[in-house]
Amino acid sequence: MIAGGQSLIPLMKMRLARPSALIDINFIPGLSEIKNEEGELRLGALARHADIEVSEHVAAIPILHDCAAGIADVQVRNQGTIGGSLAEADPSGDWGATLLTLEASVVCAGSQGERSVKLEEFFKDAYTTVLGREELVREVIVKKPPKNSGGSYLAFKRSAPVYATASAAVQLTLEGKNVCKDLHIVLGCVGLTAMRAKQAEAEVRGKKIDEKTIQRAAEAAREAAEPQSDMRGSADYKRALVAALVKRALGIAVRRARGERVEAGHEYVGR
Ligand SMILES: Cc1cc2nc3c(=O)[nH]c(=O)nc-3n(C[C@H](O)[C@H](O)[C@H](O)COP(=O)(O)OP(=O)(O)OC[C@H]3O[C@@H](n4cnc5c(N)ncnc54)[C@H](O)[C@@H]3O)c2cc1C
Repeated sequence: MIAGGQSLIPLMKMRLARPSALIDINFIPGLSEIKNEEGELRLGALARHADIEVSEHVAAIPILHDCAAGIADVQVRNQGTIGGSLAEADPSGDWGATLLTLEASVVCAGSQGERSVKLEEFFKDAYTTVLGREELVREVIVKKPPKNSGGSYLAFKRSAPVYATASAAVQLTLEGKNVCKDLHIVLGCVGLTAMRAKQAEAEVRGKKIDEKTIQRAAEAAREAAEPQSDMRGSADYKRALVAALVKRALGIAVRRARGERVEAGHEYVGR
């Protein structure tokens, strides 16, 4: 099947995918809506990255905006869809890391009916999900974070139309101004799928957030990362990058949880 074609068409051009038939799901009605419901946001599978970027419902959850606004360039964001991104399960994709911090779930629909799958169970491996042959992603459900919550998604890139070298997503809830009640830290591009950095979370959860806690979390994230050396950088470079991104994302998430308006998102070499 084809949605935005931003992953599939390049693969077909390189002869790495040769489907004998393609079903264009853009003609299925109702799949591109972004619904603001009691306690949750429902993002239709065909919602374009650009639709999500400008959605007023999404604005209330800044980490979603950080992610949508930074994916590739305008052309890709106008065509690419959230459902296609998750189904593609590219380890360097931005949505996996972002949505894992929000404990999102994916509604999969097929001839046997519908099922809701937690995102952490949806990704099985690089480019592999639990989707059956006859299933499609219908929508993505994101629970609205409680009061005093803030998040940040930072991805480090060489230029707009390439995937990130490393990324970090942080979503947290504060108790008072300084104590972390709960949080999720997820790393992108440094494993076969986006990965929770659970030890890094443990360094912050239930504690006063100060420079020392943030530094300990960053170090734990560096340890958790499992990057491979490639054209985007050496494994050591990516580990150092992940530590820096976690540190910065934690700082932004805390400020947002305190009610500050902070502009953040993808970061580029040389800026
Ligand atoms: C130059 C370039 C740069 C890019 N950079 C980034 C980046 O920095 N970060 C990032 O996250 N992404 C990036 N992308 C990928 C982009 O986000 C794609 O939009 C996304 O990966 C796939 O979405 P799509 O709708 O285009 O899917 P398609 O290409 O149409 O489909 C991809 C795969 O998913 C399947 N599929 C599509 N929709 C569904 C569905 N609803 N249910 C089940 N299966 C489905 C298709 O059958 C196909 O196998 C980039 C793409 C390009 C071309």
